[in-house]
Amino acid sequence: MTNRYLIIIAAYFLCWQFAILARVSDNVSALYPAAGVIVFFIHRWGWKYLPATVLAMLVANLPQTPLWEWTAFNYLNLLRQLVVYGGAALLARKYNGLSLPIDSLNSSIRLLALSLISSLLSAVLAIGIFWLYSPSLRPYLNVIFSGFWLGDFNGIVLFLGLASVVITLKQQIKMGAAIASRDSVISLLASSVVVAVLTAILSLNNSLDLYGYLIILPVLIGTIAFGLNFGILASVLANLSAICTYNLLDGQQIPAIQIQLLCAMVICVGMLLGSAIDDQKAAHFDASHDPLTCLINRRSFFFFGKTMLERAKRYQHSLAIIMLDLDHFKRVNDTYGHEQGDQLLCAVAEQCRSITRAGDLSARIGGEEFVLLIEHGDASKAAQIAERLRREIYKINLGENKIAIASASFGVSVFCGGNESLNDLLKSADKALYVAKNNGRNQVVFDTPAPNITN
Ligand code: GH3
Ligand code: MG
Ligand code: MG
Repeated sequence: MTNRYLIIIAAYFLCWQFAILARVSDNVSALYPAAGVIVFFIHRWGWKYLPATVLAMLVANLPQTPLWEWTAFNYLNLLRQLVVYGGAALLARKYNGLSLPIDSLNSSIRLLALSLISSLLSAVLAIGIFWLYSPSLRPYLNVIFSGFWLGDFNGIVLFLGLASVVITLKQQIKMGAAIASRDSVISLLASSVVVAVLTAILSLNNSLDLYGYLIILPVLIGTIAFGLNFGILASVLANLSAICTYNLLDGQQIPAIQIQLLCAMVICVGMLLGSAIDDQKAAHFDASHDPLTCLINRRSFFFFGKTMLERAKRYQHSLAIIMLDLDHFKRVNDTYGHEQGDQLLCAVAEQCRSITRAGDLSARIGGEEFVLLIEHGDASKAAQIAERLRREIYKINLGENKIAIASASFGVSVFCGGNESLNDLLKSADKALYVAKNNGRNQVVFDTPAPNITN
């Protein structure tokens, strides 16, 4: 609990100081991620941490306005943030309004809607407070309204977007998956340099208001290529370099609202396009892969397999089909449960994956049936691979129950020139597999006389 209090206070403090650096005019920050701190942590840890956010707000302002100088104006603003952003986070928590990390276009839209509505409400309350306590600012209330609204919106989306990236990366590290490709990191750096140079040129030419939207382009191109996380990081970097350049080069010739709108557009494009691209990739993956083992499915097997066979025919090389079916798998399910059965299927898939090389194909074409297509696979090579796989499957020991006897039967057919179709080859392998089952299982049978296995 103490640690969490410290995290909230430190995060809020840093974000508050950052918002001061990102000021684009009096009273207006281009990005106000401190509001995102409230939404994120209350959504994650619940209402018990509301006092921590109050403490965070009191501490954050200390370097600028010490507590003893606080007036009703400051306390009302504190209350505004607590009620609006704490309330939005609690409602989202209760009604599943926010899912982090962002995992679909739908969750991106929900995040943007929550940020938009809560920041709008907060801005309405803010101008009420300014109207009451700062009569001298009454003529500027419309500027303050749009400044607060867009600044808070940008800040919340930025903070939640970054939190989503961090959570995803943590999950990927835990699963031992690759975090990012070298190309995506280089593209990310390149896109932020392009944005910085572009903003600098436009600021110096005094034409940021006319052509500023061009900074969306590098973000857009990278996001199409690399997806959501790239989109979020690229838009955050684009925003930072745009604001830094704008402030450093005294770009205040254009109204603050324009630079804020630009930041909002960039981050909305990065998030929406990125999640739409990821959704599309996921749909494509789902249509072509088996969801349990992540091997390609029957449909893709025929799609890619036909191309491999065509290649073998054209360049006159061999192609081996190894078909395997787990032995008495029904018994595994009945004895140890469906979950253990699923684990066994995944372990077998892993063995298939590790035994095949780039250019080969391994697929799950039925419940407990797998097929390998071995490019340049002649009879002896196919026999070696099938025999090695048979031994590896026989060694599989799973979970607490230790399913010691997991075996598979194999049917192999080899294309060595001829007119057979993929279906013909598969039928031959299936016949051989049937023989393997009848001969007592846990063995490799060829559709033609078996070669000597040397390994
Ligand atoms: P044989 O040695 O003759 O192949 O016997 P078998 O029990 O392996 O074959 P059978 O065709 O009788 O049973 C296959 C079983 O595979 C039945 C089905 O419940 C199970 N199965 C199919 N798909 C899945 C799956 O995704 N997960 C699990 N756990 N079981 C599956
Ligand atoms: Mg079976
Ligand atoms: Mg079967």
